[in-house]
Amino acid sequence: MLAERLKYLKPSGIRKIFDLAQSIENPINLSIGMTDFNVPDPIRKEAKIWMDRGLNQYVNTQGLPELREELTQNLRREKLQFDDVMITSGVTGGYVISIMALVNPGDEVLIPDPRFVMYSFVVELFGGVPKFIDTYPDFKLRPDQIEAMISPKTKALVLNNPNNPTGVVLSPDEVKAVAEVAKKHNLYIIADEIYNKFLYDDLPYKSVANFYDRSIVLRGYAKSWGMSGWRIGYVAASSELMEYFKMLQHYTYVCAPPFLQKGAMVAENFDGSEIIRQYQEKRDIIYSGLREFLDVKKPQGAFYIFPKVPAGTSTRLVERAIKKKLLMVPGQAFSEKDTHFRVSFAASNETLEKGIEILYDLVNGG
Ligand code: PMP
Repeated sequence: MLAERLKYLKPSGIRKIFDLAQSIENPINLSIGMTDFNVPDPIRKEAKIWMDRGLNQYVNTQGLPELREELTQNLRREKLQFDDVMITSGVTGGYVISIMALVNPGDEVLIPDPRFVMYSFVVELFGGVPKFIDTYPDFKLRPDQIEAMISPKTKALVLNNPNNPTGVVLSPDEVKAVAEVAKKHNLYIIADEIYNKFLYDDLPYKSVANFYDRSIVLRGYAKSWGMSGWRIGYVAASSELMEYFKMLQHYTYVCAPPFLQKGAMVAENFDGSEIIRQYQEKRDIIYSGLREFLDVKKPQGAFYIFPKVPAGTSTRLVERAIKKKLLMVPGQAFSEKDTHFRVSFAASNETLEKGIEILYDLVNGG
């Protein structure tokens, strides 16, 4: 007999499209959550140097002291006071460890919907109960929506800002309002800030940890700068939690690859402003193209846009698009609803233009 918990698993809607993309020749692929550039040279070079020098064995579970020191200093610049950070196996590793540390069977975790796919599955795997907060149609998370979902079993709230799949960014005031509700009810906030470097229009940004000390900050390098395969992220939290995080990581992921941690040190201080400028241009191309014929909010962060399907389900629209070699992800993969679809603009400008054209034809009956 296999474990009961397996009943919670179902294949990810994103994986399905990913697999399909392999079988279609020259797809117009607007489905992927990865940047379309290689890891910048200085970052790759540093990792290679340390691999050649032999930094290939286990290191301590928290990560290299010099990287942790660098990160702690940089967090201080954002007025985030943490004694230490731990290098994780991507943000996913940090999230799994956070849920393991917080959730008892039956505990409820609030998850704004739409949401990144793994959040609810991981909660269920550890016996928790995901409770979705519907944030349609503007995808902003408001205090009254959180209040309405709180029960005596509520343990934590997941806050993904900037957001995947909507591209929406909560302002510092909006983040503060979320923190205040959490404080009132003594909830932990698991803050997935993996897209914190992908902000457009010089938007002011603050971490929820600026307002609330029961925040667990998860960040990583998968998106900045194109290092998703490196599996490097970090977690920052109170020292009480960090003690347990260390033990949990020790018995599960052991440690993040040390030579890649050296690369991450260069990534941490890499000036990616040119990349962000290009991504803002991509955002402008996709938004100005799609808003002509679709109901869509302008993304202010990350690299996704989440338009509403004019008629029918998003699954149906995505299926019709696949026949024209256009790959996108149906909203159902991220949500209890199937009314919107995710378009990733991490693609060449030419691919974006082609995608817009095909979508226009599809929406207009083509
Ligand atoms: N959180 C969000 C919101 C994401 O979009 C992704 C990647 N698509 C992850 C976490 C996973 O991050 P990592 O690769 O660092 O585990």
